Amino acid sequence: MEYVQSVVDFLKNKYPSDPVFHQAIQEVLGTLQPLLAREPKYAANKILERITEPERIISFRVEWVDDKGEIQVNRGYRVQYNSALGPYKGGLRFHPSVNLGILKFLGFEQIFKNSLTGLAIGGAKGGSDFDPKGKSDKEVMRFCQAFMNELYRHIGATIDVPAGDIGVGGREIGYLYGQYKKLTRLFDGVLTGKNPLFGGSLARKEATGFGVVYFAQNMMQSAGNSLEGKTCVVSGAGNVAIYCVDKLHQLGAKPVTVSDSRGMIHHASGINLEALQQVKEVERAPLSRYAELCPDAKYTPASEYPAGRNAIWSVPCDAAFPCATQNELNLEDAKTLISNGCRCVSEGANMPATLDAAHAFIEAGVLYGPAKAANAGGVATSQLEMAQNASMQKWTFATVDNQLKQIMANIHKAADETAKEFGQPGNLLMGANIAGFRKVADAMIEQGVC
Ligand code: NDP
Repeated sequence: MEYVQSVVDFLKNKYPSDPVFHQAIQEVLGTLQPLLAREPKYAANKILERITEPERIISFRVEWVDDKGEIQVNRGYRVQYNSALGPYKGGLRFHPSVNLGILKFLGFEQIFKNSLTGLAIGGAKGGSDFDPKGKSDKEVMRFCQAFMNELYRHIGATIDVPAGDIGVGGREIGYLYGQYKKLTRLFDGVLTGKNPLFGGSLARKEATGFGVVYFAQNMMQSAGNSLEGKTCVVSGAGNVAIYCVDKLHQLGAKPVTVSDSRGMIHHASGINLEALQQVKEVERAPLSRYAELCPDAKYTPASEYPAGRNAIWSVPCDAAFPCATQNELNLEDAKTLISNGCRCVSEGANMPATLDAAHAFIEAGVLYGPAKAANAGGVATSQLEMAQNASMQKWTFATVDNQLKQIMANIHKAADETAKEFGQPGNLLMGANIAGFRKVADAMIEQGVC
């Protein structure tokens, strides 16, 4: 424990203004103690000191001209965290809150998530403090082109393959890819989440949300239960949330909520997928619009939530799917969910539960699927897109979806068996962290100090 604490203390002192990065470090390193005690080679090779420091951070200015002819300046980043297992891989986030600390937290988590998929991909994350909300398509295009004008030097189909994240969907990936192609003259798989018209994989758009539900299904089945007939609470209303709602319906569960940064919808008879897609994918409108399309749904603006709480977690449910953003579910929310009878939590967003909330779920015996395991379906399917691009093939939706299902089952098995191996059956947080870490650390040792 002394070794872990010394590394955590060092990083807190070195990077004092990055609280979410500290949280991610603590979340992973805090569960590794049984492995480190059994295998002194990790301390001897200074793996914790090395794995917590990104291999490379690229930081750059992005300048572009808005529709009024005004010059705008944003900051762009790519954190190439770890390439022990394969080319860097991880999403790009466009959101005003983006800073280096957030991208380091996301990149660090990505290393272990990618390792858990069993595929040959390293960990990275990038993005910008650009806010696509309220911008015209042309403004988004000009920003994406300006962003790629620098990023293209640092990425490549076998070097670093970015994908989407918050604020980066099919539209942004299309513009980024167009500019990459223009600058390099290469039509290769350098971005994933592309439109299937030009190399995108079928089922990539759906993959993260579907995977989160497959993971929940695996957890329920291991407890002799199923999702069928279960009332489910989903947060978020973006890519992950929409396809989480879709898969829940397909498996006979009833998703009753969605949310965005402005408010939440509670639709007791079940979220209407078509209306949700119309509002978020077609109109790009706030969720209050959903209540206009479905008058029996209740809309609550975020301004009416109790102070410091996310009202969505007080809706009684059997299973919860946080699919919006980090730290959206705190200890009080976890206690409310538990006392309302929630038996399963599968994380679609990255680190949506605070560490004390995650521990509360585990201690209460709730089936808890941590993000790096439960939401790994997106990056896994991105790797399937890379494989299709490299071999110039196009697989059917069913082929990709079946592989996704199998990968999610494998991830659940790895986390579950590793938790048992280290004496904490059911603790998938520990199981996922150790299973993901062990492969990366062993690869680093094999590759030497370089
Ligand atoms: P989108 O941008 O498509 O959607 C994000 C959703 O979350 C929107 O409804 C947004 O509302 C809401 N949201 C974002 N920030 C906040 C906030 N601070 N408070 C309340 N609501 C918020 O992103 P994705 O669906 O792609 O990503 C959601 C989560 O899933 C993120 O944590 C991401 O890292 C994670 N993830 C995504 C993957 C992917 O393949 N896309 C893969 C693995 C993880 P609004 O529009 O009003 O801002």
